[in-house]
Amino acid sequence: MSDWSKDNWRSKPRVQMPDYTDPEALRAVEHQLAKYPPLVFAGEARKLKADLAAASRGEAFLLQGGDCAESFEQFSADAIRDTFKVMLQMAMVLTYGAKVPVIKVGRMAGQFAKPRSAPTETVGGVELPSYRGDIINELAFTTEARIPDPTKMLQAYTQAAATLNLLRAFSTGGFADMHRVHSWTLGYTDAEEMQRYSEIANRIQDSIDFMAAAGIDGGTTHEFSTVDFYTSHESLLLEYEEALTRLDSTSGKWLAGSGHMIWIGDRTRQPDGAHVEFARGVQNPIGLKCGPTTTADDLKVLMSKLNPENEAGRLTLIARFGAGSVGEHLPRLIKAVREEGANVVWSCDPMHGNTIKSSTGYKTRPFDSVLREVREFFGVHEAEGTIPGGVHFEMTGLDVTECTGGVRAVTDEDLSHRYHTACDPRLNASQSLELAFLVAEELTR
Ligand code: PEP
Ligand code: MN
Repeated sequence: MSDWSKDNWRSKPRVQMPDYTDPEALRAVEHQLAKYPPLVFAGEARKLKADLAAASRGEAFLLQGGDCAESFEQFSADAIRDTFKVMLQMAMVLTYGAKVPVIKVGRMAGQFAKPRSAPTETVGGVELPSYRGDIINELAFTTEARIPDPTKMLQAYTQAAATLNLLRAFSTGGFADMHRVHSWTLGYTDAEEMQRYSEIANRIQDSIDFMAAAGIDGGTTHEFSTVDFYTSHESLLLEYEEALTRLDSTSGKWLAGSGHMIWIGDRTRQPDGAHVEFARGVQNPIGLKCGPTTTADDLKVLMSKLNPENEAGRLTLIARFGAGSVGEHLPRLIKAVREEGANVVWSCDPMHGNTIKSSTGYKTRPFDSVLREVREFFGVHEAEGTIPGGVHFEMTGLDVTECTGGVRAVTDEDLSHRYHTACDPRLNASQSLELAFLVAEELTR
């Protein structure tokens, strides 16, 4: 792309980004990051794009999930392992049900920067700048903690590198081997979900045993013993993104080296804004959040800017309208896509349109609304004759109480027990698995 350079975004209007107070310190960090190795490689991003192209044709299904915001304080090997495990379980349920490959993409190893609905927040009469994610400032409610600090980008990079290192080891080092399908369960998953999962796991085990007995040795093949696990995050903090952007010598194209897939949030998708400008020039698969305020005209402009060659797998439209609103908005955007003849993957984020404040004061999401939005998403695609290509969840393998409902019925009162998210409420392991069963049902309808 000859009219693009990785710093072009700097001349465009930017929103949701911090104003760093010390330009020297910022420059020093950018300089340092630019020398560090990229976290992901062009061949991997191309592979993901090819996988997503299959999803756009209904020959694969995207499962994207992880924290709303990764946290420095809660960073641990166990938390990564448990989220990875739940995603493997969900992927098994989906693969088994839908009989298509599941593309596993974590909101991990870079999901640190957060857009906020207001620039400041007021607590007890004190007004301070909003928390914008650990890569920018701190959650603690003090003046000092809320000052954006560029050196946090270096810590985010280090944590992302360590996370990816572990994910790569889990993916290819035996942990994800299909023979271990029973070992991915987590102690605190609800008994009913566990039972359903165990039944599938037994059948998978049976098929593997049968193949081995028939002399087809699944045990040693790559497909059985490893998985492709990709990373993704919202491309929000553009200084960080630019510093990790590298030229791919094989294709001569630019790559955002910060994660395999990056997405543009619902608050930063202005067609002439900085975030769209940055994303249009890198070759990674791009996600675009589409909310109730996304107009058909804007979507058309965005599709032509972000995917001028109409490459399948390049663009994933992540619908996040809220339960009860999908029928009003999704058909008009599907129409826009159809009018352009655009290749896209349609994915459903049933989280961000369903955030409410609980009676006990916590930001939460009723599991019923999440399920309902997923059903509505599939219903509209069925009616339109279009392809539901994936789902996008905020979830964790930890046993948190952040979203209400589910088989284990988390109540408003329960929210205080294990409410650990630094930003939006996540589905716990049990709720995630329950959702996977619902999606599998919808896919096989
Ligand atoms: C998010 O994915 O965490 C997010 C902020 O989503 P959206 O841009 O759709 O509101
Ligand atoms: Mn979120």
